[in-house]
Amino acid sequence: MNASLPAEALSALTQETIYVTQPHLPPLDDFVPYLREIWDRKILTNGGPFHQRLEKALEEYLGVDHLALLSNGTLALVTALQALRITGEVITTPYSFVATGHSLLWNGIKPVFVDVDPVTLNMDPAKIEAAITPQTTAILPVHCYGYPCDTDAIQKIADNYNLKVIYDAAHAFGVKTGGKSVLRHGDLSVLSFHATKVFNTFEGGAIICPDAKTKQRVDHLKNFGIVDETTVVAPGINGKMSEINAAFGLLQLEHIDEALARRRDISARYCELLGNVQGIHCLPACEDTVSNHAYFPILVGDKYPLSRDALYERFREHNVIVRRYFYPLISDFPMYRGLPTAHRANLPIASDAAQRVLCLPIFPTLSDAQMDRIVDIITSC
Ligand SMILES: *Cc1c(COP(=O)(O)O)cnc(C)c1O
Repeated sequence: MNASLPAEALSALTQETIYVTQPHLPPLDDFVPYLREIWDRKILTNGGPFHQRLEKALEEYLGVDHLALLSNGTLALVTALQALRITGEVITTPYSFVATGHSLLWNGIKPVFVDVDPVTLNMDPAKIEAAITPQTTAILPVHCYGYPCDTDAIQKIADNYNLKVIYDAAHAFGVKTGGKSVLRHGDLSVLSFHATKVFNTFEGGAIICPDAKTKQRVDHLKNFGIVDETTVVAPGINGKMSEINAAFGLLQLEHIDEALARRRDISARYCELLGNVQGIHCLPACEDTVSNHAYFPILVGDKYPLSRDALYERFREHNVIVRRYFYPLISDFPMYRGLPTAHRANLPIASDAAQRVLCLPIFPTLSDAQMDRIVDIITSC
């Protein structure tokens, strides 16, 4: 059967598959001593020694003061909203992973979508004010792809209208602005340590709190609201990170700087190789920012010979699995579609970006040869 295929198609079939990401794993042997420690101690969860050590290690690495670990980023978002007792309406972005919106629905909160900025694809602060109603209690922006939001403009509006700000910082591990962690902004920031993220604990997440009291509330909420044997102060959830995940996080942290450095090099090489391709737009570097290069999004413009979806299929034919983050928009999913702010007419820039975006493979072990294969697919169309 293969004999009838042209040589080019045949070679594509035999080439290894490249996925949009591949989790960074330290040598397995290095993890065994951690497991042995858990087996010896027989403390598997409930804020054990590895959990405590990882909280401290991440606070130090990220340059933040009060970090609470959770079992994943989505529960961290749900818990963050609970911690600040957010109700009513929350202003958010449609251009994100669906968990951003779902965390609101799980709290019985009405999402109010505003459009994004055409350059950063983050929530456009100029659109926020018109979306505020007497029911608005908070803003939930996303540092999309790890690009920092316009935190100053957002905070100004929040102060004027007495709103809380919770950042979905699931993409923003290690990102710095003005020499300091981007996680310092807002009332809370939420991280995800999912397998596909820059820093992973298989599954995991965290809430960055402004003070010890807020962290304590989060710590109660993630443990059923239990304070001690006879005291339950809130209808909490089980959002605790296990000792296995925390131990793995400690080991991952030893390799994170190399991983971030390789991501930076890959990103720079993509920019160089794709900079002059007609119709392919890379997102510009942001000033005064240490990026984590969590993603490498491109926008497929009208001047490119193929549509975004045709290019997406072309990649698949060549065993390169790129992803359309973020298409569809959150506001296009059935549980959001009926909301007054979910109409495409309200979200023209996000809708356009969702039709044009492709995220190219980026992960520390992506080789230059693999990148050349990816770039060749784009330039040979
Ligand atoms: C990954 C992600 C989440 C959810 O995190 P999980 O750890 O997978 O639950 C939330 N928001 C955004 C923007 C994400 O990318």
